[in-house]
Amino acid sequence: MNEDEIQRAALMILESIQVVVLTGAGTSVESGIPDFRSPGGLWTKYDPLLYGTYESFVSHPERFWEMAKELNPTLEQAEPNLAHYALAELERLGKCRAVITQNIDHLHQRAGSTEVLELHGTHRTGHCMRCRRLFTLEEMKELSMDNTQVPRCPDDEGTIKPDVIFFGEPLDSRVLSKAAELATTSDLMLVVGCSLEVYPAAALPDYTRRRKGRLVFFNTVATSHDHEADMVCLGKAGVVLPAVVEAYKKLARIA
Ligand code: NAD
Repeated sequence: MNEDEIQRAALMILESIQVVVLTGAGTSVESGIPDFRSPGGLWTKYDPLLYGTYESFVSHPERFWEMAKELNPTLEQAEPNLAHYALAELERLGKCRAVITQNIDHLHQRAGSTEVLELHGTHRTGHCMRCRRLFTLEEMKELSMDNTQVPRCPDDEGTIKPDVIFFGEPLDSRVLSKAAELATTSDLMLVVGCSLEVYPAAALPDYTRRRKGRLVFFNTVATSHDHEADMVCLGKAGVVLPAVVEAYKKLARIA
């Protein structure tokens, strides 16, 4: 992404009244969390049909917890990166109504964003599938003997399911309708680190576009949806977003 493109993206932010952000796995890659579809991503190692569907979790929860054994330490050690901080700053500047995220890693909140909609839930809590008792990450870790076995509820031996949304599982309808409302009523959506392959999240940019709102995509490589965007910014989110936010501040004459 060159200087002209940074200025153009910054100008779009300046010209917009209601800005909303949609983030995906790519936003956290620079925090050390692999995305799903890039080379070396999670799905190149774990077949999503065996490890990522609700059905597979119910019939073989041990498979998920096997994957979690590898993924959880990465999630626990990850720190927000410059892209998360740039988006938090945009909110403080009054130019981000909310971050709608597909990520489950809590890094936006840790960077300081306060309006965060977690479309795909969070890895930080879980529930017993029988009695719905709530468990914290620490409790799940203890009950899983540090991710070596499926954690079971001490009350009724039910399987504990983390509060992440599996493929084939419905999203929280309140979160989804709030996200749809934000997308529909925004005149600019910044889509960051998102291949737009996973629905219903992938449909949100279209809500903005249909109301004549503009779309700017930030990814490292082109996606099959790039033709829908008003602008495509290629580069690492942790490099590009801080540059765009700085350029916006200059345009808006914010010190
Ligand atoms: P995806 O893996 O399908 O696509 C990632 C996108 O990010 C790609 O377009 C890639 O070009 C881009 N990308 C990679 N590194 C980047 C960087 N440094 N800067 C900017 N862009 C970068 O991810 P998705 O569209 O979010 O969909 C996959 C699903 O995976 C989501 O549902 C999400 O819940 C889940 N997921 C979440 C995490 C997490 O919580 N951190 C991690 C992996 C997967």
